[in-house]
Amino acid sequence: MIKTEGIVLSEMRFKDTSKILNIYTKNLGKIPVMAKGAYKANSRLMGSTQVFSYNEYILKKGQTFYYLNQGNIIESFYNMRENVERFVYGSYILELIEKSSPEEEENLTLFLLLEKSLKILSELNDGFLKFIVAFQLKFVSFIGYKPHLNTCVSCNKTPISDIRWSNIEGGIICSSCFSKDMSSIYINKHIYKAMIELLYIPFEELENINISLKTLKSMQSLLERYILFNIDRKEFNSFKMIDMILEN
Ligand SMILES: [Zn+2]
Repeated sequence: MIKTEGIVLSEMRFKDTSKILNIYTKNLGKIPVMAKGAYKANSRLMGSTQVFSYNEYILKKGQTFYYLNQGNIIESFYNMRENVERFVYGSYILELIEKSSPEEEENLTLFLLLEKSLKILSELNDGFLKFIVAFQLKFVSFIGYKPHLNTCVSCNKTPISDIRWSNIEGGIICSSCFSKDMSSIYINKHIYKAMIELLYIPFEELENINISLKTLKSMQSLLERYILFNIDRKEFNSFKMIDMILEN
């Protein structure tokens, strides 16, 4: 038997009454879990197999799956479902973690980021876009692609103007070096300044900084492409929902 804490990233119905879950655990990273009978009306596994919920689990390792024996709710994060923005941005966080994580590879920093992010988001009432951009920056750093921002990633000089962002180089490049990545894109000084601010700021202090909606939208889509580039994916499903929210 294995005892660990974990957060449910996704669920899929299996046969009539069972669930196959993807759980991000503290000790094992992402694992596939079979929860037998979790759909039965009075299943004792019902609460601890809900998407977003944070639980303590007792698992048994099988050939293809871990089997869920027991689950105790630590935090249901039910608040996530009370507000459409919390739900959409929360789904985006879960999808990013799920799609970027190989199975059974422990990453405690990423687990703690996930837990902290859901905690903050489940109580957030405004400033969602600023929160999610800060999340993207921390997330991409914790999976190994922290953007190089203080100096030109190529020549290491501090650029003054005409700063470009390079997905390939993983950071900013100056005007003398941008021929190294012709697909690099120009970013204005507001975006550049906000990138540096949001990379290091704790979530609790986000309310103290002001960034315009226009700048945040540019950052969000730039970081989206940077993340997709690094994890070798075409798109995130939940990103379409975010687009819909931002258009309205
Ligand atoms: Zn340079």
